[in-house]
Amino acid sequence: MNERSSIGKLKGIGEKTEALFARIGVRTIGELLRFYPRGYDIFEEPVPISELEEGKISAVTGVVSGRIQVSGNQRIPITTLFLKDSGGTLKVIWFRMPFLRGTLGKGGTITLRGRVVRRRDSLVMEHPEIYYPASKYDEKLHSMQPVYSLTAGLTNNTVIRAVKQALSSVGTTEDILPHEVENQYGLLQWEQALGEMHFPKSREAFARARERIVFEEFLVFILTLRMTKHSEARAETPFSLPDHPLINTFLDQLPYRLTKAQEKVWHEIRSDMQGKTVMSRLVQGDVGSGKTVVAFLALLLAGLNGCQGALMAPTEVLARQHYENISGMLDKYSIPLKAVLLTGSMTAAQKKEVYGMIREGRAAVIIGTHALIQEKVDYNNLALVVTDEQHRFGVRQREALAGKGHTPHILVMSATPIPRTLAIILYGDLDISVIDEMPKNRLPIKNCVVDTGYRETAYRFMKKQVAEGRQCYVICPMVEESESMEAENVLDYSASLSEAMGSQIRVGCLHGRMKQQEKDEVMDSFSRNEIQILVSTTVVEVGIDVPNATVILIENAERFGLAQLHQLRGRVGRGKYQSYCIFMSPSRSKETKERLEILNRSNDGFFIAGEDLRLRGPGDLFGIRQSGILNFQVADIFQDAKLLQAAGSAADMILSADPELKSPEHAGLKKWIDSKMNQIMLETTL
Ligand code: ADP
Ligand code: MG
Repeated sequence: MNERSSIGKLKGIGEKTEALFARIGVRTIGELLRFYPRGYDIFEEPVPISELEEGKISAVTGVVSGRIQVSGNQRIPITTLFLKDSGGTLKVIWFRMPFLRGTLGKGGTITLRGRVVRRRDSLVMEHPEIYYPASKYDEKLHSMQPVYSLTAGLTNNTVIRAVKQALSSVGTTEDILPHEVENQYGLLQWEQALGEMHFPKSREAFARARERIVFEEFLVFILTLRMTKHSEARAETPFSLPDHPLINTFLDQLPYRLTKAQEKVWHEIRSDMQGKTVMSRLVQGDVGSGKTVVAFLALLLAGLNGCQGALMAPTEVLARQHYENISGMLDKYSIPLKAVLLTGSMTAAQKKEVYGMIREGRAAVIIGTHALIQEKVDYNNLALVVTDEQHRFGVRQREALAGKGHTPHILVMSATPIPRTLAIILYGDLDISVIDEMPKNRLPIKNCVVDTGYRETAYRFMKKQVAEGRQCYVICPMVEESESMEAENVLDYSASLSEAMGSQIRVGCLHGRMKQQEKDEVMDSFSRNEIQILVSTTVVEVGIDVPNATVILIENAERFGLAQLHQLRGRVGRGKYQSYCIFMSPSRSKETKERLEILNRSNDGFFIAGEDLRLRGPGDLFGIRQSGILNFQVADIFQDAKLLQAAGSAADMILSADPELKSPEHAGLKKWIDSKMNQIMLETTL
């Protein structure tokens, strides 16, 4: 058995279980081993009853006070007891376990561990695990049980058993990090890290395992990036593009003036494009800072110099939005350039016409999706390539578009609020410009943090906004178990929301399970205000600019990272109307309040990212979340900033000794990177 074997080879995994695993993306032993827990159940020290917190799982130790009661009906008997410690008494109940009256009635100290909920204004522990006598709990104390993301029908225990078996039967798993690197950075070896990641013996062991896995993730990412880069030195450019008077005509006619920050960044771009070497620049700017118009200026400069400029967006909706925006402006401001749109869902005849216009150079500004890098597209004189929301694209996709021209200038736009030092590592080959200021005419978004009791009120508020002609987003409760459950969740939610809103208001929905084309259709109807309320998971696309949307209601806000909440909130507050963001959460815990309060106070992405990191604290991550940003499995560029830097220097060291990773000790790394690149290529050609 090896990492490539099917998990069906494991004992106890039949066809049915295999199919369940397939639903969560686990088919081989290797994939199972890399299916890390999403968090851990930690057996903490028992707490005094007087210090119990609602909603939390805690352990308490005490003695039974008074009689143990069994009530309820025959089918569901309820056992109730009162547990007493030196400072207080706690009501505890179990369902369907009447025999407990006998077992627990004998006296002595008991430890109970379970969730504490509020029932009629007092705290109750429901259906806890029992450790009797209390010393039994000591054996478990401080241990960590993995909790996996599941799908309906697959239990946590099944996954635990499978992982245990896989760990013990695969023998040596492939360690792709060179020993040299492991030694120098004091990292655990792969096999040990894997074992401790799934079944950590302590928090420290977990932290060490995670560190090793994060390091590897970063290293592979950085190496992949560096390996696709053509050469160290900036190539000379055949496109040295001087200023053009119509640029100022364009600027004069814009309905607003550029902010100082936009102006500064535009100057940097312009002088790059006039220079002798190829531009390679990243423009970073918070959601809504106005990156698009800067990209448009660069496209115009290319076009006005008789060349072509292309802009690639990650989704059709966003591409169409950009296209309509820029062609409208060209028209209105009488700038004699032709813009075209190219996306996958256009008909063959439409595409053919656009291909012709691109080939013959009649189209100067070309906006599209991946369709722009398809083989059939033959550019006439491509001088500039812009990618919007760069983190959504693989490195290869960016390269593929650049490869369409003869070393065109490259501009990438990103809203990911990462510190400059990290950006330099992540985008080592790019110069960086930052738009660090918001347009002045904006009404700041009004935020509120509320509990679920406010939902009806929120609905009424949304109804009122819709009556005034506005639109709303609802980000649906996130179900972590699986994508299919998430889909069900969104569907259920929008059905009941639709009912609550009445027949006059159209509610649409969007989730990860839908095909891209379906998503685009829904987003399209939303941007045309044919749908007034859009219920969505976080697939609500980045970059979408529907200035008419003024409310975003985020359910279960406590489950999202702050940076992600900030991105979501960025969908509103983009126009002249007052906008509102409602963070809804059932949790009354202090931590949740404090976290959400940061968003309540600030609309600044950089500040929020920093606060997020401060609050979570570098050593305190016992739930492993999908970071969303740059799609690392475990790593988090904020929290793991130090490791990112270390991986960056390790990558430099490796490449300076062995630029093409040809030496035997780099074979594992090379193989892994190649398979990653294939994956990216596959995604590109799909
Ligand atoms: P992002 O940086 O998130 O891509 P956009 O470029 O989509 O932001 O800009 C958001 C909105 O702000 C757009 O509707 C755009 O027309 C508007 N906008 C851009 N620059 C300015 C400015 N200097 N003053 C006022 N509004 C602006
Ligand atoms: Mg944008």
